[in-house]
Amino acid sequence: MVAVTSADKPTMECETEHFLGAQRQLDEIAEEMGLDRELHERLRYPKRALIVTVPVRMDDGSVKTFTGYRVHHDVTLGPAKGGIRFHPEVNLGEVSCLAMLMTWKCALMGLPYGGAKGGIRVEPWKLTTGETERLTRRYTSEIINLLGPDKDIPAPDMYTNEQTMAWIMDTYSINVGHTVPSVVTGKPVSIGGSFGRTEATGRGVAYCVRRAVNHFNIKSDAPKVVVQGFGNVGAVTAKLLHQAGYKIVAVSDVYGGIYNPDGLDIPRLMAYVSEMGKVQGFQDSQEVANKDLLTLPCDVLVPAALGGQITEANADKLNCKIIVEGANGPTTPEADSILHDKGIIVVPDILANAGGVTVSYFEWVQGMMHLFWSEDEVNQRLEQIMGRACDQVLELSTKSKLRPRMAALRIGVSRIAEAKRLRGLYP
Ligand code: NAD
Repeated sequence: MVAVTSADKPTMECETEHFLGAQRQLDEIAEEMGLDRELHERLRYPKRALIVTVPVRMDDGSVKTFTGYRVHHDVTLGPAKGGIRFHPEVNLGEVSCLAMLMTWKCALMGLPYGGAKGGIRVEPWKLTTGETERLTRRYTSEIINLLGPDKDIPAPDMYTNEQTMAWIMDTYSINVGHTVPSVVTGKPVSIGGSFGRTEATGRGVAYCVRRAVNHFNIKSDAPKVVVQGFGNVGAVTAKLLHQAGYKIVAVSDVYGGIYNPDGLDIPRLMAYVSEMGKVQGFQDSQEVANKDLLTLPCDVLVPAALGGQITEANADKLNCKIIVEGANGPTTPEADSILHDKGIIVVPDILANAGGVTVSYFEWVQGMMHLFWSEDEVNQRLEQIMGRACDQVLELSTKSKLRPRMAALRIGVSRIAEAKRLRGLYP
C-alpha cells in the first residue's frame, strides 16, 4: 500500500503489486489504441471501494472480527457484477485488480454490466457452517447499500458457493422486505438459479480450447491437454474436452498431479476424486509434482487453479503450443512476454473463463423476466456469445498483430471508453 502523496496525480490505497499489474496492462493498451488521456486516467482506479469490519459470533461464544471489501471498478454499462471470495490473501489491491478485470470481461462479452469484486480476509476452512453463515450474513448487511439487482450483483468465487449466494439473497431480501432472487447469481436452481450455471465456466474454457486449436491449426487427431486444478473449472473443462476426443494427459489438484501420456480416463477419474478427494493414486497414471505438471509436453495447457502460476521462473520451460487461462490471472505480465517470445499463444482469462459471468447474466435475465430456460437453451446461447467474442478477439489479434490478451483488452476498453464518451461527464 502507498500513501497519497500528490493532490494533482491520483493515487489510491489499492496500489499493491497485483493491482499495479492490471493497471500496467491498461496503460499498455491505452497507449496502443491512443485512448484519450483523461478517460484513461478515470479508468485506472476503482469508482468506489468499501472496507467493512465484520464481527462474527463463533460457536464457542467468542466474537472474532474480520475485514471485508466490495469494490466497483466501473458501472458505465450497467450494474456492477463480480464474485465474492473468502480467502486469507484477500486485500484491497487484489479485490480492486479483479474488479477492473471484470469491467473488461463484461464489456468484451457484450454484457450490460460494470465490474466489481468483493471478499473477506478469512481462512474459510477453519470455520464451521454456522460461523460461515453468520460471517456471510453480517458481511452482506455491512455492504447492503451497494447491493441490488440494478446496482451490484455478486456471484461465487474462491471458497464461496451456491449456499453462500442463497444466504446473501436471503439477508438482502429480509432487509428490503420481499424476495429478490436477482440480487445474486450462482444460486441454487430451486431458488431461482439457472440450469447450466455450475458447468458454465468450464464449458466456456473447453469451447475456447476447441476454437484456438482450429484457429491456430494444431494438427492432431487427439490434441494433448494438461489441466492444472481439478475443481469446478478444471474438471468440467477436462470432461468436455475428453468427450470431444482430446487426450487429457495430466491433471492436478492442491495435493499433486497425475500423468499418463496416452490419456487419462476422465469420467473414471471424476468418480475416483468424488470418493477419494484427490487425483493422486488414480489407476494407470504416474505421480507428478505440481511444479513439474506445467512443463509437461502437450498441445494445450489449461491453468485452472490459482493466480500467478506461470511466472518468470517457469515460463521459459513450458512445453505447450497454446495456453487457455481458466483461472483468473494465472500468468504474470513478465511471463506473458517470455511466452510471446517463445511463440506460445495465450488465450486470456477475460475471454476464456467468461462463460461463468455469461450464464450469470442469463440467470439475472431469467430472474427479472420470471421465465426460465432449459439447460440446452442456456448452453446454446452461451456458445453463441463465446463464439462471437472468440471471433472478435482472434480477428483483431490477427489484423492488428496484437497478442490475444491485448486484443481482448482493447475490445473491452474501447467499449467502455465509447460509452463514457457518449454519456459525458456529470455535472
Ligand atoms: P475450485 O475451488 O472448485 O477448484 C480449484 C482447484 O485447484 C482444486 O482442484 C484445488 O485442489 C486446485 N488447486 C489449488 N491449489 C493448487 C495448486 N497449488 N496446484 C494445483 N492445483 C491446485 O475453484 P474453481 O471454481 O474451479 O476456480 C478455479 C479458478 O478459476 C480460480 O482462479 C477462479 O477465480 C477461476 N474462475 C472460476 C469461475 C467459476 O465459475 N467457478 C469463473 C471464473 C474464474
